[in-house]
Amino acid sequence: MNSLIDVDSARNHIVERIPRLPVQRLPLQEACGRVIAQMVLSPSDFPHADLSAMDGYAIRAADAACDTFVLQGESAAGHPFDEVLKPGHCARIFTGAVLPSGADAVIMQEDASIDDDAIRFATKAHVGMNVRSHGSHLKKGQIVCDVGFRLGASDIGVLASFGLTNIDVFTQPRVAILSTGDELCDLGEPLKEGQIFNSNAQMLAALVRTHGGIPTVWPVVRDVFDDMTRALELACKFNDLVVTIGGVSVGDHDHVSKAMSKVGGDELVFWKIRMKPGKPLAFGVSSGGTAMIGLPGNPLSAFVCFHQIVRPALATFQGTTHAPLCVSLPTAQSIRGSVGRKEFIPGRIAMSQDGAHFEGPAKMDSGNSFQLMGVSALAVLQEDCGGVTQGESVQVEIL
Ligand code: AMP
Ligand code: MG
Repeated sequence: MNSLIDVDSARNHIVERIPRLPVQRLPLQEACGRVIAQMVLSPSDFPHADLSAMDGYAIRAADAACDTFVLQGESAAGHPFDEVLKPGHCARIFTGAVLPSGADAVIMQEDASIDDDAIRFATKAHVGMNVRSHGSHLKKGQIVCDVGFRLGASDIGVLASFGLTNIDVFTQPRVAILSTGDELCDLGEPLKEGQIFNSNAQMLAALVRTHGGIPTVWPVVRDVFDDMTRALELACKFNDLVVTIGGVSVGDHDHVSKAMSKVGGDELVFWKIRMKPGKPLAFGVSSGGTAMIGLPGNPLSAFVCFHQIVRPALATFQGTTHAPLCVSLPTAQSIRGSVGRKEFIPGRIAMSQDGAHFEGPAKMDSGNSFQLMGVSALAVLQEDCGGVTQGESVQVEIL
């Protein structure tokens, strides 16, 4: 396929060809950031009983009109009071403790005064006051999270409150990162005259890890067709996804698209996308079924293309979808668009007296990799947008 396709079609092509990886069972403590492969239902009602939401006194709301109350006993968290609360009586109670049978309200201790044996309350109780009632948070059998849900730290806490010790999650994709370029020097090697460090591989490895994959950085591949083909073949054998960086354009020393096509049985799914940066971006599938994505070498392009193209692929392997959070914000500077290509401008969301706005580079230069410092959002200009002026609203994708 040689014609340019739009970004959404490119994503669809990839997502359609990527399998969901098998399920593995993990201890809950190791499952943060992973996508669940099972539906989780509440195993019981929560709270398990009527509980006090305050430190104070449990009473019968029907006794609200009484002037004074007699202390009958105490219910502390973990130590319930097992008598029935008598009319005109109250029980000392603490946050999280079970309400004594008969009691249906709690008056906070700041509203209580004690005179000899008589307790007076400054507030009038009503049924359910300061009570976390039985089953009011979750009912037994209620769906808490479903297949495809990515667990964060707060979710781990919720599942732990069910006593869940293990959980089924989708396996993480193994991702080989292959950089190509005769000018590239691997980190830790001495930099020779005219060389630059292979910074992209480190960035890509960090991105892959952040988004649920297991990256392996391969040694730099020379700008030689046979070397690229061999490296691709080998990487495809041991990985779920192979991401190449550089050498994907039409220059004399760019061999990725042809090598990918060869490894894919003389077939490439697509090669060029109507996006900026990232027009040359190849996608193929090896004869053995491994997905291969060829990213352009400019670090800024590689970064943008990772978020638009590789991230959805990683999500698909993990049994979920990548649905970026987008907001509309005024831009701090004018941005020129390229009609006919969807454009992505790396930047950040910043605050001023007037509220939040998008802040990008004064002049976008995809060859200047230092514009990547501190990037946490992308401004998105649709294909038909010729640009936005300072103060105008722009769609911003939060990364
Ligand atoms: P290419 O896509 O191979 O034409 O490379 C475009 C630009 O990105 C060139 O200036 C390369 O030197 C640079 N580049 C390519 N690969 C990398 C890499 N892995 N790390 C840093 N810069 C790179
Ligand atoms: Mg190159």
